[in-house]
Amino acid sequence: MSASCYIPENLTEALEIRKKVHAIPLAGGTDLMVQAKRGIGINPVFPAPIMIITNLEELKGIRVEEDGTLVIGALTTSAEIASDERVFYHIRKAASLMGAVSLRNSATIGGNIANASPKGDLPQPLILLDAEVVLSSIDGERSMKVDDFITGAKKTALKDDEIIKEIRVRPVKATHLFYHKIGTRRANAISKLSLSILADVEDGIVKDFRASSGAAGNKVKRDRNVEMILIGKHIEELPSLVEEFTSAWDGILSPHAMPKYRRESTRRMLSYFLERIAAGAEPGIIE
Ligand SMILES: Cc1cc2nc3c(=O)[nH]c(=O)nc-3n(C[C@H](O)[C@H](O)[C@H](O)COP(=O)(O)OP(=O)(O)OC[C@H]3O[C@@H](n4cnc5c(N)ncnc54)[C@H](O)[C@@H]3O)c2cc1C
Repeated sequence: MSASCYIPENLTEALEIRKKVHAIPLAGGTDLMVQAKRGIGINPVFPAPIMIITNLEELKGIRVEEDGTLVIGALTTSAEIASDERVFYHIRKAASLMGAVSLRNSATIGGNIANASPKGDLPQPLILLDAEVVLSSIDGERSMKVDDFITGAKKTALKDDEIIKEIRVRPVKATHLFYHKIGTRRANAISKLSLSILADVEDGIVKDFRASSGAAGNKVKRDRNVEMILIGKHIEELPSLVEEFTSAWDGILSPHAMPKYRRESTRRMLSYFLERIAAGAEPGIIE
């Protein structure tokens, strides 16, 4: 451990410390401890004082507000998210596939977002759902879309006096859902690619369509203009739009991050989803 280590008992105390000494928040430590390690048997060294935030009750738990908004505290672990039926399918599924069981019991959603790894699993479904991150400082709160918070690989808009308090997801209407992560193996596999898709089909019309690609560039890839190719169309038109849509999607992926086979896999998954809807698939999860 570095010389200074704070263990605040509540959010106000934590924010005062954050303002005063810019201590680095440590939640599950699954990223931070790895980044600070110096070898077996040698204590890790941190670039600034550390603040263990695990006692902050204000950052814990999942709740649903009256208007249906889902609120996930920053300290909520992947295991807690994965086992809560109130959490939107894509987030739950992504959380359930993160690392191995031991990791999922420690890794928090706040840490996953703040770490801003292009291969991190939770930003991808959160960006699909237009989720917002709430940032607290001793001077007040501000919120912004997760998509705006993560500005690039390992880069965020977090100020040095702020802590992520919670993540807010407004209800999203969808009839058809798809999530897939490809890693090298089942446990502890970092994403080689991940893809979330949702569609809302009413009377044969695609009322909404969204997709987001993880591990596909410096940050999660999503593009409303590309999604608009399908929105408002009748499901019978979808087969004729597959090529235009998948080519446009391919265009937003980073060629550097996504070699040919990953792009082909993404194309195939998008095509498969659209073909299933065009064939009149029942509402639910497309597997
Ligand atoms: C073996 C292994 C396997 C892994 N597999 C996966 C995987 O499959 N998918 C995946 O996405 N990740 C994976 N990870 C990475 C890691 O577990 C996740 O990113 C995790 O969600 C980080 O959460 P944490 O609570 O451990 O963060 P910490 O390590 O505590 O912190 C990470 C960063 O976030 C900051 N931070 C934490 N909480 C807050 C907060 N509330 N406010 C502001 N800043 C905060 C910290 O200061 C630090 O910069 C793996 C890591 C390991 C070691």
